[in-house]
Amino acid sequence: MVRLLERYVKYFPVTSGTPIISIGEGNTPLVRLDNLGVKLGIELYGKCEGLNPTGSFKDRGMVLAVAKALEAGSKGIICASTGNTSASAAAYAAKAKLKCHVVLPAGKVAKGKLAQALMYGANVLAVRGNFDVALDMTRRLASDLGLNIVNSVNPYRLWGQRSGAWEVSDEIGSPDWCVLPVGNAGNITAYWAGFVQYKKAGLIDAIPKMIGVQAQGAAPLVTGKPFQNPETVATAICIGNPVNAKKAMAAVKSSNGMFLAVSDEEILQAQRDLASSEGIFAEPASCATLAGLYKLKRNGDLPKGIRVVMILTGNGLKDPMIVDYMVSPPKEVEADFDDLKEAIMSC
Ligand SMILES: *Cc1c(COP(=O)(O)O)cnc(C)c1O
Repeated sequence: MVRLLERYVKYFPVTSGTPIISIGEGNTPLVRLDNLGVKLGIELYGKCEGLNPTGSFKDRGMVLAVAKALEAGSKGIICASTGNTSASAAAYAAKAKLKCHVVLPAGKVAKGKLAQALMYGANVLAVRGNFDVALDMTRRLASDLGLNIVNSVNPYRLWGQRSGAWEVSDEIGSPDWCVLPVGNAGNITAYWAGFVQYKKAGLIDAIPKMIGVQAQGAAPLVTGKPFQNPETVATAICIGNPVNAKKAMAAVKSSNGMFLAVSDEEILQAQRDLASSEGIFAEPASCATLAGLYKLKRNGDLPKGIRVVMILTGNGLKDPMIVDYMVSPPKEVEADFDDLKEAIMSC
């Protein structure tokens, strides 16, 4: 398989001195979602970023950030994380034989993500505070201890994540809309920059409208002010004061896009719909995109027939506990043929 850093070597800031590392990131499926598309009256696609090696899009940025850290002779990397950044950082650090420190908001990280960081061998610390507090301290630690920070304040992270936009464009050109969940607002900025770079290179003729969806309990880019105590079931976007807010607002504005917010209930309903009507199990944050499209459709703000790509940022298996809110556990029956037959026929 072609490694991401090689596939897009012309468009990444890599040099002959950049080590080309890989654990199989990128090249994720862009799946046409006809069951939902028909319902919404649009041509809908899902970019399945949950199929990256650690189960989220973070791997696209992490591979470049870690390669550049290695190139610069790094002593180790550090990140604050709502979960997926830590999983990705820990995996690439393992591959690159670098020390990795992870700072998490205690009790606010999905089980699967925590399991990943621990198994990949990172030094994991949980602070009693929210993500924004953890990130502030992590930035200070990075500079005090001379470590490379691999949050989306790292420009290579964002540059690596542009590759998602390039893959979409390589496959279907420029869609009309590109819809993303927004937390720290790095990915929407990266996709926009990716489309802009491709347009400059003459590979696409238009930039899609960038649509950023936040959870109502953590929607600083919708309300215009930071949230002191962000709360949402979509832990990956539970961020009250996004570090890339300014850049993301500029990207959305210049593409004639918009930000909107959806409730936790809408997110969970969309998660279930995506799984049960398209066979794609994405984590709650990812499904804010579909919830956003539903909302726009309800309000009469979704033009008919447009081509829309949703970035399904992370894998649903990372957060299995959330399922308890949505579905009942399986009905138990005796190990008896007739009992089982009756139960099957009665459903
Ligand atoms: C990190 C993450 C996001 C948010 O991306 P930002 O760049 O912080 O806006 C959304 N969904 C998932 C699954 C993530 O891991």
